[in-house]
Amino acid sequence: MADCIFCKIANKEIPSSVVYEDEQVIAFKDLEPQAPVHVLVIPKRHIESVAALTADDKALAGHILCEVIPQIAKEQNLDKKGFRVVANTRDEGGQTVKHLHFHVLGGRSMQWPPG
Ligand code: AMP
Ligand code: ZN
Repeated sequence: MADCIFCKIANKEIPSSVVYEDEQVIAFKDLEPQAPVHVLVIPKRHIESVAALTADDKALAGHILCEVIPQIAKEQNLDKKGFRVVANTRDEGGQTVKHLHFHVLGGRSMQWPPG
């Protein structure tokens, strides 16, 4: 999608620090990390948010949650200590980039509730 910063990252039109990539998914370090490990996992195809996912996206969503995120957590040494997965969704969810992304945060203790 034109003018989508995460589409541009997926297409390598703008640089990012990639930690994982396959045909459907890319994961890269957040530009403004909120924890010692802060990775964003995105589908390469433009999907606006969790609210825009449909039954056709089941395989992709399952791949991200069941395979990609656990693998990244392991590689980043978060799988035993723990980590947080966040998908800010639409305006009241605090989503600023309107391309589906899962934050993977770790390396410190997380607080609850979020702001
Ligand atoms: P959200 O507020 O949930 O939409 O998250 C968007 C995230 O994207 C923020 O944590 C930003 O720091 C991050 N971000 C924005 N632009 C870039 C970029 N070019 N490279 C890496 N992370 C980015
Ligand atoms: Zn996009």
